[in-house]
Amino acid sequence: MSHVHREHLPTRSTWRCQVCGIAWPCSPAKLRLLAEYRDRCTDLLVYLATLQAEAAEQLAELHHGTPPACLADRFTGWGRAR
Ligand SMILES: [Zn+2]
Repeated sequence: MSHVHREHLPTRSTWRCQVCGIAWPCSPAKLRLLAEYRDRCTDLLVYLATLQAEAAEQLAELHHGTPPACLADRFTGWGRAR
């Protein structure tokens, strides 16, 4: 394994982290977003909601028309904390 820096970004259309391979957003991705949007909580939620809508559409195609449950918790639920 190399130590080349890689961004924790979602893979379209599976929405898994490009680095961790787990469901995006992973913990490093969340930490990066929280740092990036530190003083702009509203912007962060808008951004997450946009990604959630995109993910719902793409994941629904992968899952025979039904988007997986709890996408809201996964994408926007954590951003509301604090
Ligand atoms: Zn990751």
